[in-house]
Amino acid sequence: MATRTNPDRGDYSALDHLECSSSGQVYSAEEPQGLSAQGTPLLARYDLERVSRLASPKSISVRPPNLWRYHELLPVRSPRHVITMGEGMTPLIPLNNYGPSIGLHRLLLKDDGGLPTGSFKCRGAAVGVSRAVELGVKGVALPTNGNAGAAWAAYAARAGMPALVGIPVDSPPISRAECVVVGAEVFLVNGHIGDAGRLVTEAASARGQFQDVSTLKEPYRLEGKKTMGLEIAEQLGWRMPDVIVYPTGGGVGLLGIYKALCELQELGWIGDKVPRLVAVQAEGCAPIVEAFAAGEHYSKPPKDPRTIAFGITVPKPIGDFMILDALRSTGGTAVAVSDAAIIAELHRVAALEGTFVCPETAACFAALRELRDSRWVASTEEVVVLNTGTGLKYPQTVDVDLPLLTP
Ligand SMILES: *Cc1c(COP(=O)(O)O)cnc(C)c1O
Repeated sequence: MATRTNPDRGDYSALDHLECSSSGQVYSAEEPQGLSAQGTPLLARYDLERVSRLASPKSISVRPPNLWRYHELLPVRSPRHVITMGEGMTPLIPLNNYGPSIGLHRLLLKDDGGLPTGSFKCRGAAVGVSRAVELGVKGVALPTNGNAGAAWAAYAARAGMPALVGIPVDSPPISRAECVVVGAEVFLVNGHIGDAGRLVTEAASARGQFQDVSTLKEPYRLEGKKTMGLEIAEQLGWRMPDVIVYPTGGGVGLLGIYKALCELQELGWIGDKVPRLVAVQAEGCAPIVEAFAAGEHYSKPPKDPRTIAFGITVPKPIGDFMILDALRSTGGTAVAVSDAAIIAELHRVAALEGTFVCPETAACFAALRELRDSRWVASTEEVVVLNTGTGLKYPQTVDVDLPLLTP
């Protein structure tokens, strides 16, 4: 039986410790942590027996519709430290027009386009900033292709915490505006996200008390993104679909969904069914797709990473070995698509369903079309595609060429 939560007894979170993703070595979760001694990400581990004493699918079902409804499985120990704008519990909408057009009768879109800051990055930022507040971190610093910087800057502002964001000059201008309006310090970098990362890391360490919150360099962003997987399971009545298709940059969303799957199965809240995870990338930057095809355990950065899908332009994901492992252990795959296919599919989905998805998600639909053509996905299978951001942030994906009428 689930008992009533008593935050004063430390019942809000069942976080136990951190674990090195490569060596398994245990680290304390009670102080700010970066990468492990091996230089690999640290993973949050929970006392799952305590979780099952404190909560159940039934007790969770009556909680407010935001991601904090899973607080026992999140790292923030006290609700007093939660920095929230109501993020989470986004709709899972059937695509009954587009789905059949590619021969799929159970196609669903998990639509994170309506979240604060317009992308699913706010899940990681809400949880990451809240935990940073709890651990006494004085400021956060990160490089970004746009959406992560906007989200972390926004939640940091709400927490009264300074943020330093490095943005490549080629990324969508809207993100710069989003960072500036909430008062973040912005470095506009003439280079790619790796270059921005080096500049930001130097500046952050010069400032001493700033934490580097780059993708997977602190353990809690992943926990926020894990809530996508928890929500998909809950929204399907505590089970998983056959296939989940995800636009993969740093891979945090994919790893988060995989972590949710593992934790829910260990809790016994969902059955044994494992969804085949599909990582989608753009041909102009496809390190995971190449490593997957070559049977490698680590990725190699492409020489000139370039695509209109900025959110997935990550030449060397630090969690590559975990992403590849998640794809292989779920019987999944990795697919790369061209920018032309991305734009074409973005228009098809919008015209058939009325939803303007981000180019990263349009890449998923282009990949899904290929996976249907090759029969990798059967027409009767249930497929969930993640819409990681709103198309409104990328107006350049649509050519508007209209005659001007003079009344
Ligand atoms: C960041 C981002 C991605 C990629 O997410 P990862 O978790 O880094 O793989 C996909 N889509 C959008 C819109 C993004 O902003």
